[in-house]
Amino acid sequence: MTVRVGILGATGAVGQRAIQLLDGHPEFELAAVTASESSAGLSYGEAAKWRIDAPIPESVADLTVRETDPDAVPDDVDLLFSSLPSGVAAEVEPGFAEAGYVLSSNSSNDRMADDVPLVIPEINPGHLDLLEVQRDERGWDGALVKNPNCSTITMVPTLSALAQFGLERVHVSTLQAVSGGGYSGVTSMEIIDNVLPHIGGEESKMETESKKLLGTFDGAELDHHAVEVSASCNRVPTIDGHLENVWAETADDVSATDVEDAFRGVESLDLPSSPDPLIEVFDDPNRPQPRLDRMVGDGMAIAAGGVQETASGVQYNTLAHNTIRGAAGAAVLNGELLASDGWI
Ligand code: NAP
Repeated sequence: MTVRVGILGATGAVGQRAIQLLDGHPEFELAAVTASESSAGLSYGEAAKWRIDAPIPESVADLTVRETDPDAVPDDVDLLFSSLPSGVAAEVEPGFAEAGYVLSSNSSNDRMADDVPLVIPEINPGHLDLLEVQRDERGWDGALVKNPNCSTITMVPTLSALAQFGLERVHVSTLQAVSGGGYSGVTSMEIIDNVLPHIGGEESKMETESKKLLGTFDGAELDHHAVEVSASCNRVPTIDGHLENVWAETADDVSATDVEDAFRGVESLDLPSSPDPLIEVFDDPNRPQPRLDRMVGDGMAIAAGGVQETASGVQYNTLAHNTIRGAAGAAVLNGELLASDGWI
């Protein structure tokens, strides 16, 4: 069955990636695109400052950009990918869900709400059942599902592999690409020949979202994992691909080999955008690197390497493509899970 889908905020950096990923998708047909009032009414080709190094799919270039309003989106569109600025998303997403649309959203608003599933399909697919609680509490016919922040998605699949050893404490230092801030997020004068040692709000997102993702859902409430996460987030002059240095402490003694085996043991799903393997483990301690490895698994896999034992636990490096696995691809994959689990 083909599901007709739309993108809210389709002209932005994440929306453009979503358009690229939906081109030729085996289950989804892109039928509607929305953006701000200044773009509404124009063709997508006119409205979007296209920045992806592949042409705009022909079928999309001629679509008329609609207003970001439930009345402007056709009723036969069932699934919406939302890539709006979080302030805008906080205002409009509930209205779409109330109007019956199922939303798979990138925006950071409501990620930590008790009745909003925050999902990485290979890691916590069962959290989707929180939608029953959401529909009961909010009276929505539609639904709102979130994917985590791009830096969190890069790390959590590896942490889920370590949970079996009694994961207690994590320190992480990130080296995040400039595309994570959107096209106009960081100016060239700020970032060339430089590193910015703070990304507003990013540290706390990594600390809280990780605990929610690794938590357990008993059918009524979600119990967050007890792991303590401390993050330091840095913006570096790479275009795409967040690299992260992780130090993890576990209750059990673990060797580097135990950790690598655990990473290899995290299973992918039988969904079109889930890569196999989910975690690509490198033996070479010089890998992963953003330029060489951000496209592992077509940008949907997590790359990990440099695993070593330390005085207090283990240290390793992990990398993912921030606008594919970290944003648009994450939302598309959540859409695939929503469809396969019968929520659409
Ligand atoms: P962006 O490039 O600034 O794009 C924003 C989109 O929202 C554009 O399509 C814009 O349309 C539309 N928009 C802006 N104001 C609007 C309004 N008042 N009403 C309706 N539409 C409006 O942002 P982005 O980098 O794609 O990020 C989108 C969301 O994804 C954000 O919440 C961000 O935090 C999140 N995210 C981004 C990344 C990343 O790597 N970039 C990763 C994870 C999550 P116009 O073109 O008409 O202005």
